[in-house]
Amino acid sequence: MSYPELSVVIPVYNEESGLQALFDRLYPALDALGLGYEILFINDGSRDRSAAILHGQFERRPDVTRVVLFGANFGQHMAILAGFERARGNVVVTLDADLQNPPEEIGRLLAKMREGYDYVGTVRRHRQDNAFRRLASRLLNWVRDHSTKIRITDQGCMLRAYARPVVNAVNACQEVNTFVPALAYTFAQHPVEIEVGHEERHSGTSKYSVYSLIRLNFDLMTGFSLIPLQMVSIGGMLLSAVSGFFVIVLALRRVFVGPEAEGLFTLFGIAFFLLGILLFSMGLLGEYIGRIYQQVRLRPRYLVQAVLEKREDRAPTATDSPPPERSPTLAPQASRSS
Ligand code: UDP
Ligand code: MG
Repeated sequence: MSYPELSVVIPVYNEESGLQALFDRLYPALDALGLGYEILFINDGSRDRSAAILHGQFERRPDVTRVVLFGANFGQHMAILAGFERARGNVVVTLDADLQNPPEEIGRLLAKMREGYDYVGTVRRHRQDNAFRRLASRLLNWVRDHSTKIRITDQGCMLRAYARPVVNAVNACQEVNTFVPALAYTFAQHPVEIEVGHEERHSGTSKYSVYSLIRLNFDLMTGFSLIPLQMVSIGGMLLSAVSGFFVIVLALRRVFVGPEAEGLFTLFGIAFFLLGILLFSMGLLGEYIGRIYQQVRLRPRYLVQAVLEKREDRAPTATDSPPPERSPTLAPQASRSS
């Protein structure tokens, strides 16, 4: 069995309306590169016809197509990790299924890899998302930039290329909630970024609600740094110092000026302000504890229902991937690569 040079990993969640358009552009774009490639679609528990469409595509191009079918919706990043575990290419490129990342740009990413970089990130040239998403992104990029060691200009852009050693390192991790571009970045020796085009979603709507975007960013902040927690400790220390100073001042005033009862609303103001800080800190602490809780439960990160691939592709892969699935109709399997 020969390993392809390039693996393209694409998470798919309820993308029935756009998949055909993706196939129509992706396969010719990859054929044009003139190298051995494979495409791994991971159906993230879609509730529409995506799985059937992917099945059809597998039957049309079984030479380069592999499909992993999840039993439920485990999220974009788990889907990408499942792709990473099965990918056999020397370079792995991730791509969104909605054609927001032009497949024609993959060649430019590969060219950069050939220059010796092991992680090619991308920045969207003219980002085609609404103003709210763009503003939120800018804010969150800034927060992440100042609270972690991860230097990614445009964290939301998933069109990225990873070298085999970086992919192997990511495969060795067992994080439950993670953000693949950031996790991979921590293992990259020579990361680089290039600008790529960005298009409007071909069809359908974004699969991320405001809530899931907030969750994702908490994962990014608390999953890669302890700085938020340390900030809270330092803030607490500063507040204690200021309060201590006030206690002394007030005690002296009690002795030299006498009892004072004015300023009730100022007191309320200060009390609520501190209460707010306290609640925020508890929430932040909870974020870390929640991550620990999810991690120690040791549940499978995702459940693979079936894998569609050619018989010869089913041999153990170059990476430490789970045992190969034998038939597309097997019972659900837990997948954990340790
Ligand atoms: N996606 C997924 N699981 C999810 C949500 C999204 O596999 O739970 C996939 C989706 O099909 C798409 C990619 O992740 O291929 C990016 O999603 P989307 O385009 O909705 O995100 P946005 O571009 O709005 O950030
Ligand atoms: Mg999108």
